[in-house]
Amino acid sequence: MEVNVARTNRQNWITHDIERTAGAAAQRANITAGKAVATAVRTTLGPNGRDKMLIGTNGTVVITNNGASILDRVEIDDPTARVIINAATAQQKTVGDGVTTTVLLIGELLAKAEELLNDGLHPTTILAGYHQAVDHARKRLTEHSIEIEKTDTEALQAVARTTVTGKWDAASATRFASLAMNAIYAVEDDGRVDTRALNIKALPGGELRDSKLLDGLLVDMNTSSTTIEAFDVGIPHQLTDARLALVNQEITVETPDAVKNVTVSNSEQLTSFREYESGTRTNIVQKIIELNTDVLFCQKSIDDTIRTKLANEGILTVERTRQDEFDALVRATEATAVQSVESLSWEDIGIAGSVEQQSVGTTKLLIITDLPGDVQASLLLRGGTKHVAEETRRIIENCIATTRIAICQGRVLPGGGAIEMALARDLSAYAESISGREQLAVKAFAEALEGIPQALINNVGLDPTDAFPDLRNRHEKNPAVGIGSGTGELQDMVQTQVFEPLMVKERCLTSALETTAIVLRIDDIIRHTKSPTNDGIEDGNQESNYIQRSTDGYPWAIGH
Ligand code: ADP
Ligand code: MG
Repeated sequence: MEVNVARTNRQNWITHDIERTAGAAAQRANITAGKAVATAVRTTLGPNGRDKMLIGTNGTVVITNNGASILDRVEIDDPTARVIINAATAQQKTVGDGVTTTVLLIGELLAKAEELLNDGLHPTTILAGYHQAVDHARKRLTEHSIEIEKTDTEALQAVARTTVTGKWDAASATRFASLAMNAIYAVEDDGRVDTRALNIKALPGGELRDSKLLDGLLVDMNTSSTTIEAFDVGIPHQLTDARLALVNQEITVETPDAVKNVTVSNSEQLTSFREYESGTRTNIVQKIIELNTDVLFCQKSIDDTIRTKLANEGILTVERTRQDEFDALVRATEATAVQSVESLSWEDIGIAGSVEQQSVGTTKLLIITDLPGDVQASLLLRGGTKHVAEETRRIIENCIATTRIAICQGRVLPGGGAIEMALARDLSAYAESISGREQLAVKAFAEALEGIPQALINNVGLDPTDAFPDLRNRHEKNPAVGIGSGTGELQDMVQTQVFEPLMVKERCLTSALETTAIVLRIDDIIRHTKSPTNDGIEDGNQESNYIQRSTDGYPWAIGH
């Protein structure tokens, strides 16, 4: 009887739990999904982009118009949409901006590809044309770019502001742009920026304007389990010329294996065991005191009694210091992290001009400044709820990423759709020089690029049927003309200083091409709608995970 049940289930699996869409139908389905993702973020593009309210399953509400934040948070299980979202995530991680632009461009490229497929072009021809278009566009991008010096604070601040415009009101955007630029300057060294030297903390409570840049390091005491007692009692809130000890391993009364296994059977043994423990504790505390230590950081936990004894001596202990904070402490204080207190020596101790305990909202922080080692700066971001603070952090991180790229690459492009218009015009001209049907695809790429200024026009509330031809006319005379923020007046983007780093646009083009290619190449979608191991067909046979047999006993499909 059991065998019959298993067979019925297998039959179900084969007949009902697999969906297959092949050929043109698969291609159309993928194009539709890709266009839908683009539609989801189109209205958020640019300084006048609208916000989206995202409501999580647990009721959390996040309001944002940051393309990456939106795509990150929505749950989409369509595989094509996931490919696009992965491209968006990669764009976000590599260059920190241009996510919405990339996704829109993918949507436009897919829409144009659909038209070309309808006209009988083969996907391979379309992709060949798109490839040629990107190769040409990348060359032209460099030619359109403007060189900026790393000392050009005005231009750099403009780059930072372009990244944050539309995310906040104008005053906040300016404030955060300057915060981001100063943060970069604080850690910049000869055109190189080590972002590890920049520690960003987003803490709930307070106002956005309470955010500030500190020259030094912030250690979050809430993530450590330091008790109020150890934190408050007998330890000065401000230490000057503090000596810092850094220990990697747990600080505990290590019971040697031999002792651990001994059963304490009489009071004499118990006494000697207790003496051993207390002696070890005293040695540890003594060592810390001898080295004139003011603060002891430990990456793991510290024995409670040891912490209390140290607190009584006025020595601050910080347990479970985060790895990145611990590493930053090593670099900035010139301390050497050791495995145990026993191996600590005078030379291992690090120095900080000032260590201050401060409560910021509900978080207790150690602010460590005036450091002898590597440069270290910290951005303390404030904002209403935890989610607002986190969103602020994301946007600031983007801003820091673009400013860093602009400093390192030293080249920027005019924004507000100006560069897309210029490239579209270049590509239309270039298409004329191409023979064969690829020419149509290069032209299509040019039209797809125009989708960006068109979206900006739409989002500013202008009618594209009038405004777009107007833009095209003005652009013929001045390739820096783009759509301004506010009322959408056409402006010279170099004069108004709406700058974007060259590398961001390079990545937008490459990533949009790669993703479109992936989507267009797929011509077969095979979907397992149910997991075969969860629906009862598992019969205890190892093999059944890999080889699904048909009901008459022959191997039916071999899984990877
Ligand atoms: P993305 O995720 O692609 O960066 P955004 O919503 O940040 O999308 O919008 C970016 C677009 O907005 C770019 O084309 C950029 O040039 C434009 N932009 C940003 N700030 C301004 C501004 N002050 N004036 C005009 N256009 C701007
Ligand atoms: Mg942006």
